[in-house]
This record gives sequence, C-alpha cells and structure tokens, in this order.
Amino acid sequence: MTCDISLREFACYFPFLNKSASYLQKRGYLLDVALSDKKLLEKAVERLKRALAHERIALRPCIDSPEEAAAAARLALYIAAATRNTHVLRRFADSESKNFKDILEKTPGIQSPECKLEIARDLGIVTRQAQEVAPGLLSVAYKMPMAVRWTAYVRYAPQDPYWAMINRPVVKGWVILPIEDFERLLEEAYEERIVRTVSENELAVGRVAASLDPALLDELVKQYGQRPVRVEARAMPGPDPPCMRALIDALKAGENLPHTGRFAITTYLLHRGWDVEQIVDLFRNAPDFNEKITRYQVQHIAGQAGGRKQYSVPSCETMNSWGLCPTNLGCGIRNPVVYGRRVAARKSS
Ligand code: SF4
Repeated sequence: MTCDISLREFACYFPFLNKSASYLQKRGYLLDVALSDKKLLEKAVERLKRALAHERIALRPCIDSPEEAAAAARLALYIAAATRNTHVLRRFADSESKNFKDILEKTPGIQSPECKLEIARDLGIVTRQAQEVAPGLLSVAYKMPMAVRWTAYVRYAPQDPYWAMINRPVVKGWVILPIEDFERLLEEAYEERIVRTVSENELAVGRVAASLDPALLDELVKQYGQRPVRVEARAMPGPDPPCMRALIDALKAGENLPHTGRFAITTYLLHRGWDVEQIVDLFRNAPDFNEKITRYQVQHIAGQAGGRKQYSVPSCETMNSWGLCPTNLGCGIRNPVVYGRRVAARKSS
C-alpha cells in the first residue's frame, strides 16, 4: 500500500475502486450481508439521497466504521441502478466522482504522487511521474507534474479547448499535465468506473431491485429522475431579444442546439446574472444532456474552469453569421445584451 492510510480507510474513501471491492469481499461485506442488515440499508439510502442532492459525503464514518460506509456506498449504487432511470444513475455517479476528486485533492495520507499513481493504476490509467519520462525543464514547469499515456488522456479529457492535446506537452506518447488536471482525469475515469460497475453486476442490481420497497424506487425517480427546468428572475431589466428567446424556447422544447447556440445562450444568461447551476438546469432537456460535461462547459465559459477566461456575449453580427439572428439584424443594435435595456427605456419615455 503506497498511500499513508489503512486499507479500510482507503476502501471507505474510494469504495468503487477494485482494491476496495476486493477488500470488502475479503472482510465479508457481500451483498447478502448488506441486504439483510437493516441499518446498512438505511445508510445506503441516506448516501444515495445525499449524492442525488449533490451534498458532500461525511468523512467521519471512514474513521468510525469504514467498512460499513464503503459497503453502504456500493449498495447505494445498486439502489440507484435498480430505479432503472438513467438520470438517477448518472446523477449518483456524477456526485460520487466529485466527492472522489475532493478527497483526492484534500485528504491527508493520499497526497503523495505514489498514492495517486496507485489510484490511477486501479482505474486502468497508465501513469508515471513526469520526471521519469521528461526529466529536466519540462517536468519542473508544473507543480507535481504527471505523465499519462495519450490513449487514456484522449479517453478521459473533457471536451473543451483547454484540454485539446495540442495545448499539452507530449513526450513519446506521454501527455504531461499538472496534478490538478491529472486529478480531473481521474474523476472522469472514476465516474466511468461507477457506471461500469452496474453493467458488470446486473444480477446484483436485480436482486436489490427485488428486495426493495417499490415505493422507495418510485420516490427516487419522481424526485431525481428529471428535474423540471427552472427559469429564475432576471438581474437585468427588459425582455430577452428574439435570438436569445428562440434559443431558450428551443432548449425548453428539448431541441438540440448547435454548439454556437449553446455558447451564445450561456454567455447571455451569465451576463443576465444567472448562476452556473441555473444554466445547467436549462440544458437538462437537451437530448444529449450530460450533467458533468455541461457544468464544466458552462463553468469554462464563465471563466471558472479551464483557461479562466470569461467570454463575452457574441455581437449581433456574429450571431447573424452563425444563423442565430431571426430578425436578420432587424433590432438595430450591435449586441443582444443591449436589447432589454433599449426596450425598457423606450417604454418609460
Ligand atoms: S439583431 Fe441582435 S439582438 Fe436582435 S435578434 Fe438579431 S442578434 Fe438578436
């Protein structure tokens, strides 16, 4: 064990790693035990609900009763899968993988590069410390740089210009990246592992579904199966311009927007004072909605992630060139952000 914590704590912090699963199995925390233990079942439901509400998991149980907490987490996953609702499962995986990254970044005992390499290995990501593959200048450009095989990089890197491989140093097939970005890759891989755990344990999921009160599964689907679109009060006066109104209506109707449309509406709503979560909610009806990717992209446009550059709302001319101006520049303004103010001023004069 290269991490400076006990195996039982490790299993509790990272319940969906292979190493944790085999530890739990050896300690007798099998599904039969979990299903017959009422208290464990309650803990699993609590963990699931916290994850679905995007609340952080409490770490105290990893000191008090690590095996139970780890077994409850795995049972929580089977319950999420037993709802047979993709949103519930995806939401659980998203939340748990965020917790994973928080723990990875902040928890003492797992901060050494060796420990992080072990976690990456468990997730199937071939990794080395950067100085092994790029000694010298390149490896001192970042704090604690890591080197990941390009195949894993391409598989788990978010779809975002900041992550384009062309923007990274690549040495003989190894992509060099700072520790924060390396941890972000592991987060993606962990989320994939959680979802894959379900498809590899269909029998277990079926047993959990058969042994649970159907009312619980119905309640979970009702509450978390698909959140309704919230449209909040605006910080700016006046109505939305026709171009942005059309984009909002298309999103609410579940239509697929082009990349330019998504970009434009995101910059506009940020400008109007919406926060990242409100905008993510608006995208929920999109046919290809993926919560994690959407949140990252919105954060990126807001300047809270990636290159940390906040983007402006595209001008009317740009909107028109993208085919997103339904009036063909008929509003007589240069930028959609002016529209609301202009209409409000006209009304009051
Ligand atoms: S003129 Fe500008 S504000 Fe009006 S619809 Fe076209 S892009 Fe939008």
